[in-house]
Amino acid sequence: MSDRPKRILLKISGQSFCRPGETGIHMEEITSICDQIKRVVDQGGVQLAIVCGGGNILRGKEFAAVSASIKTPTAHYMGMLATVINGLALQDALENAGVQTRLQTAIQMEKVAEPFIRRRCIRHLEKGRVVILAAGTGSPFVTTDTAAALRAREIEADVLLKATKVDGIYSEDPEKNPHAVRYSEISYQDFLRQNLKVMDAQAIHHCMEHNIPIVVFNYKKLGNIERAAAGERVGTRVLPAAEITKA
Ligand code: UDP
Repeated sequence: MSDRPKRILLKISGQSFCRPGETGIHMEEITSICDQIKRVVDQGGVQLAIVCGGGNILRGKEFAAVSASIKTPTAHYMGMLATVINGLALQDALENAGVQTRLQTAIQMEKVAEPFIRRRCIRHLEKGRVVILAAGTGSPFVTTDTAAALRAREIEADVLLKATKVDGIYSEDPEKNPHAVRYSEISYQDFLRQNLKVMDAQAIHHCMEHNIPIVVFNYKKLGNIERAAAGERVGTRVLPAAEITKA
């Protein structure tokens, strides 16, 4: 993995848009992420695209499971629309902080956002705009992790940064097993073999096929988004087996 990535795909889950343990949107949570993103942008030399999740509002699979009258694809489309709500909130919060942005969606809604057009997205990035990508892939049955991996591939990002509330990838859920081991690096293959849950398997497969490094880190630790964006060692890196350093 290159030391200092030039083009970054940052995945922010829906959880980051609300208070811990709650649902919905809380602007103070978004503002604190925006402050970190602004510092990344202000440092210069980096292009940043952001895929936002929607789990703070609705996850298709969970909603369909408890709603007899809702068809599963409908619930997934609702989940995708939730990511647009988050995208709009993130856009205004970033612009309010002085960061130039564009919002692009995988489901067309011309009143509020541009459609996702790969070349246009790249052009915005080259001009220094942060591009927020919402509505996932535009197709049901997958998550925004998969959307992030696919977009990372499409825009030729050097790295996929997954901002989470844990310090990285553990051998088991550290909240359930205090002896769980945190990895500083893990290969895609080992991640899949151990059936780890931090990121969905489809996303890992896409990154593995195209050698896109993934960094899973805790964005709640101040400065971590900047450190990850600068290529410093934070959280866990998921890499091709040949690049594991055993450091
Ligand atoms: N979703 C979808 N297709 C996509 C991306 C997302 O159908 O390409 C739906 C899916 O139902 C998902 C929901 O949108 O549960 C919200 O996304 P996700 O669960 O990935 O959000 P996060 O967990 O990152 O907050």
